[in-house]
Amino acid sequence: MTQQHHQFQFRHIGPNASEQQEMLDYLGMASLAELMEKALPEAIHYRGASLLPEAISEDDALGRLHEIASKNRITQSFMGLGYYGTRTPGVIKRNVLENPSWYTAYTPYQPEISQGRLEALINYQTMVTELTGMKTSNASMLDESTAVVEAMMIAKRSAASESNVFFADSDLFPQTKALLEHRAEPLGIVIRYFDAANNQELDEECFGAVVQYPGASGRIVEFENLFAKVHEFGGLAIATADLMALTLITPPGEKGADVVCGTTQRFGIPMGFGGPHAGYLAVREKLERTMPGRLVGVSVDAEGAPAYRLTLQTREQHIRREKATSNICTAQVLLAVMAGMYAVYHGPKNLKAIALEIHHKTSALAKVLVEVGLELEHSHFFDTIRVLTPNANEFYEAARQKDLTMLLVDDEILGISVDESTSWHHLAELAAAFGARAPRGEDATDQLKSHRQSAYLEHPVFNTHHSETGMMRYLKRLADFDYALDRGMIPLGSCTMKLNSVTEMEAVTWPEFANLHPFAPAEDTQGYMELITELSSWLSDITGYEAVSLQPNAGSQGELAGLLAIRGYHRSRGDFQRSICLIPSSAHGTNAASAVLAGMDVVVVQCDEDGNVDFHDLTRNIAEAGDRLAALMITYPSTHGVYEEAVVEICDLVHSAGGQVYIDGANTNAVVGYAKFGDFGGDVSHLNLHKTFCIPHGGGGPGVGPVVARSHLQEFLPGHSMAQAELPKYGPVSGAPFGSASILPISWAYVQMMGNEGLMNATAVAVLSANYVAKKLADAFPLLYTGKNGLIAHEAIIDIRPLQNEAGVGNDDVAKRLIDYGFHAPTMSFPVSGTLMIEPTESEPKQEIDRFIDAMLAIRAEAQKVQDGDWPKDNNPLVNAPHTASQMAGEWDHPYTRQEAVYPAGAEPKGKYWPPVRRIDGAFGDRNLTCTCPPIESFITTPSRISSS
Ligand SMILES: *Cc1c(COP(=O)(O)O)cnc(C)c1O
Repeated sequence: MTQQHHQFQFRHIGPNASEQQEMLDYLGMASLAELMEKALPEAIHYRGASLLPEAISEDDALGRLHEIASKNRITQSFMGLGYYGTRTPGVIKRNVLENPSWYTAYTPYQPEISQGRLEALINYQTMVTELTGMKTSNASMLDESTAVVEAMMIAKRSAASESNVFFADSDLFPQTKALLEHRAEPLGIVIRYFDAANNQELDEECFGAVVQYPGASGRIVEFENLFAKVHEFGGLAIATADLMALTLITPPGEKGADVVCGTTQRFGIPMGFGGPHAGYLAVREKLERTMPGRLVGVSVDAEGAPAYRLTLQTREQHIRREKATSNICTAQVLLAVMAGMYAVYHGPKNLKAIALEIHHKTSALAKVLVEVGLELEHSHFFDTIRVLTPNANEFYEAARQKDLTMLLVDDEILGISVDESTSWHHLAELAAAFGARAPRGEDATDQLKSHRQSAYLEHPVFNTHHSETGMMRYLKRLADFDYALDRGMIPLGSCTMKLNSVTEMEAVTWPEFANLHPFAPAEDTQGYMELITELSSWLSDITGYEAVSLQPNAGSQGELAGLLAIRGYHRSRGDFQRSICLIPSSAHGTNAASAVLAGMDVVVVQCDEDGNVDFHDLTRNIAEAGDRLAALMITYPSTHGVYEEAVVEICDLVHSAGGQVYIDGANTNAVVGYAKFGDFGGDVSHLNLHKTFCIPHGGGGPGVGPVVARSHLQEFLPGHSMAQAELPKYGPVSGAPFGSASILPISWAYVQMMGNEGLMNATAVAVLSANYVAKKLADAFPLLYTGKNGLIAHEAIIDIRPLQNEAGVGNDDVAKRLIDYGFHAPTMSFPVSGTLMIEPTESEPKQEIDRFIDAMLAIRAEAQKVQDGDWPKDNNPLVNAPHTASQMAGEWDHPYTRQEAVYPAGAEPKGKYWPPVRRIDGAFGDRNLTCTCPPIESFITTPSRISSS
């Protein structure tokens, strides 16, 4: 092949041609084409043409992205509504956002190799709890508007009142109102708007009420009596609050709030045309166990040393399924890490100074506007004022001439929000647009109401790393605790931890993509519109569906959007009774949780011994559902890692019973270029751009979960009243019209640089690598499921239960022992408990795959020694894993050597990854819930701790 060095696919795909041939030979296949012929069911094999663009080089892709970016017009935004200019400290941008040690990490389910990001998240949780005055914060939400919906659902679950009424502040952000209405309807919740300044309007029993603090209009209202009134009705009191304002005004937690939520965007996260940003959610005491999303807690390791882990994991959808508290899985970890670090870097004094400067600039502007006779809507505000004037349009245009964009609320109201990036020069220009003089520092006055008295962020972590040198070293220290893709393979089944290339990532931080407000005028967004249209058309071609929405900001939200589309479709045809959603027992936990949120009733369909949907059980359930059948939700390739042969028949069966077929496409990596959901029977799917399409996992987010559908569902895909392009007239699933828009260039670049041929090769090599691993391990670990010709798709499930029975070596022991060998564990106990699910992906070099296979075989041999009685069951390298450096320096009373513990066969001593803690006691952490920064003293390592064990 000519000019290979220009072709990105040869950088993206790990094994080179001769290595691929070696792997094929081992499987007894002549070529990738033969492998795919043998693995893929003929009925779904797509052999038609592709409309994807020709692959272009990395340089050319960046050139095209620059051209697209230049079509966005960046102005100084005064639009507010939850999205503000901010300064991302360079040390955080370079060392977190642009650092693969942070952005390529996986969700911290293996806490021993995740202490760095867990500490960063506990900083974040501490920041949120202290600024809001609440007891416990989770580790992030998808955005502010969805966080308000989650808060409403906490109230629904926990309130004493049985009422279906929820009161919403009429001064909520408009995008939040739209989302609340759309999400409330299928759940039978009635939204009533009221004026938070007039609690007479809260006049009937309710299960909760939410106020915006400060309001969308900028006003600050006192709401103690209001919260007391909600409590009298048996409801929960919720505030959606601006964290920057809370450094100056009394936090809702001190006013009786039960739940406080919002966004942390203005803590150093660029607006990015809507996202990604970390939404936040915090609760008072006793509500911890009702919280959605992930929560980091403090526990102890095998030596009793404090260690962090995700806590209350029993709430995960994988276990609770249709009874889960929420469908949220992927959240916004990378952005939460950044926002927490913004607080660490600035500390309480600087945060307050930043907030005061914003307030002073706002009040100075307000003063000069009043001087020229303009009327303001409110006299108490933090950063936002509303100007009431019949000439709103003229002033708006005059400001636009100077590249300043206000919020044109209507023909007579202008909104102006000041932020950290607003300079005095911007203010002078804006004032001039109104014919007012330039505001000055002396013009500033205090227009706040209810000043905050309580202290916050007193923990040393927020009062230490304020120099850039100190901050750089803190970030490096935490990054070094962790295992991410920059150290080695992360063979996580169902999560597709593939390459996130630098060229793909590059454009995310360009100002033209980073600094655009999500509700900017359409004329400013032409670059984004081009990128979105192009990427959408490619995803449409890849999936065989006509309609695409990029709005959902995680796979779970794509599921919800797709199921809401099915619901809308049935109802539009008068089929109001169609509410049953059939879901196979093997499905990802989010499926069942999403179906409940879409107002559906979940019925589980059994799987047969081969891991396929049990045809008889399916037929029986379809018959039983009758005309109440709404949908079947299946995953393809199945969560068991195989290409299900009967999928076409299954789709036909559902259609002939009047149901719609939802195909969960999170694992599209095994079908891109070879099969199309829309062609073989799906009506709607979601994709996970943070799996198949190279958006990095970020330690548990961000993500993009586009929903793709056949044309009859198009009008029921997510809409948004403030979108710059024509969207369906249906409700939204995210706060921003195009969700996490600023990370779309990543997937755009991937498809553009791979082209159809590159994508097909990626799929085939992913399947090749998975089959290679499965066959190499098969003698040591039984392979649970295979499809046609004994082949699997993109992942292998191996059974650890025989080892557990015969040697007392469990799943956990194998996973933790892999750390000693320098690996991240595969997916544990999903979808079958007592198993490991391995997905090597196409990006892993053959050398790394072989190293992993060797480690697994060596671990099997170690287990044999336990089984044969050479090592006791309670004292062997498996049950004691992982081993730390401090353990090596202490006493040693194990029947195996230190060498065997930390430098086992094949592990390369120089490149050794040392876990910072020993195995973590999960149950201890769940019993003793601590979700904020522990006092420093608890970390002082005592000599007894080192020598014990
Ligand atoms: C990852 C995954 C999901 C959920 O996606 P999130 O982005 O984490 O919400 C759903 N289904 C399957 C099969 C998945 O692998």
